[in-house]
Amino acid sequence: MSNSLLIGLYGGTFDPIHKGHCHLIQQLLNRQIVDELVVTPVGNPWMREQTPFASGEDRLAMVKLAVVDLPKDIQPRVKVSDSEVRRGGSTYSIDTVLELRAEKPDAEIVLILGSDAYSSIGKWHRSAELLELVRVFIVAREGVGFDIDALAISSTMIREKILTKIDVSAELPESVWSYIKERNLYASK
Ligand code: ATP
Ligand code: MG
Repeated sequence: MSNSLLIGLYGGTFDPIHKGHCHLIQQLLNRQIVDELVVTPVGNPWMREQTPFASGEDRLAMVKLAVVDLPKDIQPRVKVSDSEVRRGGSTYSIDTVLELRAEKPDAEIVLILGSDAYSSIGKWHRSAELLELVRVFIVAREGVGFDIDALAISSTMIREKILTKIDVSAELPESVWSYIKERNLYASK
């Protein structure tokens, strides 16, 4: 085993970020699975059928708010990256990994994926090359992977609830819920 710094790269649409994501972040750090985590909202997820509902700027802002709401002991180990939102064009994880490697050449990058996201990795852009550059850590959501007692929350479920005016305040960090209400996000299709 090498003793290089383990940096987790945790990407997602985060449309919006929710307590299931935050629980995952805390588990990764509390269990020392990674030393640091870079949370990276995707710019344009080319593999998804639908473009995100909220803009890159809003999704990024919500991720930043959620990180501020994390327990103070782990917060310093979590960074939020705007690199994918800023890059423009289709987002490819390989580009993000190459950027991170250039910034931190001595670290090992651990790609954090829920079991659902992992199932499609073979179809990702330059996936073979990507898999040569990183370790992959699979978190069980509904499926195989490392068991973190994942919370049964998804962004899709949250968006649908907001649309139909069902209370979601328990499923989101408070600051994120305030942000959504202020900007009236997800209130119409
Ligand atoms: P959507 O319903 O729009 O797909 P989502 O809740 O799956 O949203 P994503 O932004 O797609 O959120 O997820 C980002 C990453 O977090 C993915 O790797 C996904 O598997 C993982 N993830 C999402 N929700 C959870 C959860 N409740 N517990 C553990 N992992 C999760
Ligand atoms: Mg998803």
